Amino acid sequence: MVTDVLIIGGGPAGMSSALSASENGSKVVIVERDGVLGGILNQCIHNGFGLHYFGEELTGPEFAHRFRKMVEKDKNITVLTNTLVTDLKEKVATVLSRSGIIEIKFKACVLAMGCRERTAGNISLNGTRPMGVITAGSAQKMVNIDGKMIGKDIVILGSGDIGLIMARRLTLEGAKVHAVLEINSTSSGLRRNILQCLDDFNIPLYYNTTIFEVVGRDRVEGVYYGQVDEHFNKIESTKKFLKCDTVILSVGLVPDLQILPDFEINPKTNGVFVNEHYQTKQPWLFSCGNVLHVHDLVDNVALEGKQVGLFASLYAQKKLYGGNLIKVSHSKDFAYVLPYTLFEGEEDVEMKFRLKNKIVRKWLVVKSEGREVAKKFVLAGVPGEMMTMKFNKSGVKNEVALEVQ
Ligand SMILES: Cc1cc2nc3c(=O)[nH]c(=O)nc-3n(C[C@H](O)[C@H](O)[C@H](O)COP(=O)(O)OP(=O)(O)OC[C@H]3O[C@@H](n4cnc5c(N)ncnc54)[C@H](O)[C@@H]3O)c2cc1C
Repeated sequence: MVTDVLIIGGGPAGMSSALSASENGSKVVIVERDGVLGGILNQCIHNGFGLHYFGEELTGPEFAHRFRKMVEKDKNITVLTNTLVTDLKEKVATVLSRSGIIEIKFKACVLAMGCRERTAGNISLNGTRPMGVITAGSAQKMVNIDGKMIGKDIVILGSGDIGLIMARRLTLEGAKVHAVLEINSTSSGLRRNILQCLDDFNIPLYYNTTIFEVVGRDRVEGVYYGQVDEHFNKIESTKKFLKCDTVILSVGLVPDLQILPDFEINPKTNGVFVNEHYQTKQPWLFSCGNVLHVHDLVDNVALEGKQVGLFASLYAQKKLYGGNLIKVSHSKDFAYVLPYTLFEGEEDVEMKFRLKNKIVRKWLVVKSEGREVAKKFVLAGVPGEMMTMKFNKSGVKNEVALEVQ
């Protein structure tokens, strides 16, 4: 099989990049390992999606359905579902489908494989290994797709968005969510999810708190939990027992890059390094969505996919031009800033970033060679929210740095 642009992953990032590559005149193939396009959205039956992209509030499946309909209508796009990309080499991918193993040759490829959840093993959760310890996304799939209840007395470890959403979902399904325990002093979840999923249901969120030990032989019987100091050391004097039958983990998402085991990874995002065109160090390989950096809103994923699909299509048509490189750096206030390099030019560029700590009434400042290029006032910013800042590149040379003042 031969195509101009190969897209790996049929979630919102993959579908939006496919549509924009096709609109730009390229032939596109989407490879999706699941039986249906939509990615993680298919299990997110709550609303809160689409406010920015479609200007209305949709559920995850509704948002996915809108994209799926557009993809299905597009004659330039071929969709291969139930098909897994197992290997990726210079302009050729090996895929495993129900009819066997085939190769797809392409001119450009977009990585859109989303992310996976950190597990009990990833965080070295202490205690026994009974049934009833489950990640929030798996719990969401079991409840929303398979229609199975996972427990009655729940403790949630980590205040990521999926955990917050599951706190509400399980309460609505009749379970008692006793507490959400967060080891940090701030949540990595969105403020609106804390309000709508915890506060509205009187579910307590304890900061600087973690599980010391999971207890139970066959099934979870409870957890010892308590506070930690600023170095995350357990404060034994605060240890308490909480009876529960289920522990849900919402302790972080990691870009799913299993098909690129030897690729250079940015430890700050766990995604690949990309330039202003979302192009990796292999010029034919592009990346977007949660496999590049974990997004808070699907609308941002779809917008990024749209941008990247165009770049990949232009590359396939030999019309993507770079230029002199501008190196991007940032102060310690940022967890990461993306993209990692820009090209000299006269256009606007949008930087995406997450903060390390909460800021209130501060300026975000962009400097090049010590000179201020742009600034933006921020009333409040938190690590859980992805932020953006646009500026014009005219006059910017060699390097650019982002600071909080
Ligand atoms: C539980 C949960 C709740 C969320 N709630 C909200 C919300 O309320 N509002 C909001 O705006 N956003 C929400 N989000 C965020 C939003 O859903 C994600 O940011 C978005 O779905 C990510 O899109 P994606 O296309 O990058 O990845 P995904 O949606 O994960 O899609 C990736 C696709 O790639 C496929 N794939 C992976 N590897 C391969 C391979 N090797 N071969 C073939 N296919 C492959 C996967 O099967 C999957 O379909 C939520 C996310 C999660 C996980």
